[in-house]
Amino acid sequence: MRHVVVGVLLVGVFSGFTDCDACDPNKPGASCSQSEPCTSGLYCGADGTCKAQTPPYLYATDKIAKRLSFEIDYVQGQLPNQASIDAMLQRLREMHGSGHVKKPEGVEYLVDDTVPAHADPNHAYTFEELQNMVNGNKNTRSNGRYASAYVLYVDGHSADDNGASKVLGFAYDSDKIVIFKKTITEVCENNGGLFAADICRLTEASVLMHEFGHLLGLVNNGMSMHAAHQDAAHAGHDVNDQCLMYWAIETDSGVSMLLNRLLGGNSSIPSFDAACLQDLADAQTVQ
Ligand SMILES: [Zn+2]
Ligand SMILES: [Zn+2]
Repeated sequence: MRHVVVGVLLVGVFSGFTDCDACDPNKPGASCSQSEPCTSGLYCGADGTCKAQTPPYLYATDKIAKRLSFEIDYVQGQLPNQASIDAMLQRLREMHGSGHVKKPEGVEYLVDDTVPAHADPNHAYTFEELQNMVNGNKNTRSNGRYASAYVLYVDGHSADDNGASKVLGFAYDSDKIVIFKKTITEVCENNGGLFAADICRLTEASVLMHEFGHLLGLVNNGMSMHAAHQDAAHAGHDVNDQCLMYWAIETDSGVSMLLNRLLGGNSSIPSFDAACLQDLADAQTVQ
């Protein structure tokens, strides 16, 4: 009998700690209301408890971060194309206007560090090498006000390139993007002819926006799908070849698609299709 009494007392002590956690507005699960909001970095969910938010929802919604910031670093000689960055920011502002990516305090960027070029201009970068470069240069991280995404422009090319396909960019870790600027320049200059400058600008803008699409959780890359639209052969991509999240956009074969688009009179970044936009619209209501 005594043992049972002791047991009950212990349970009482532990549940006391749990109750205390639930009262702490710094912790997810604490109760909250309009008059008693959660502390910075958490938001008050519809069920009256504090919730944390991580990418992709941190990027897509305004529940915590009202502003979206890009930190952009580049390897010497691989300067980002200003017009391409502007095109991506413009598209994101439009998506704020349409309610698909909500950032009421705006979208901005900072071109930050210059990273030394590789001794071999044709170096084939492994994922591990790129990770080390990113880790050595990324200075910003998301906080209660900003959702921060990191972009690194590199020289050389991807070790994953093969005769049939060249990688133009990729996203990883939910908040990081690598752009193979030298590869983009080579591919678009080889294919663009008279339109080389235009196709280079459009390709870089489209790859940037496609990679940010992955950070937004598209397709089935951390964000729920309203209806199935993932390409079974290319995880994280859309089956629709008219969607910006089509797999080819981040490879050299996407450049000819973009060139046809350009020659057809359309110089803007391809759009997210209806299925992707529906996922982003649904994300705004997730609690
Ligand atoms: Zn992709
Ligand atoms: Zn799509």
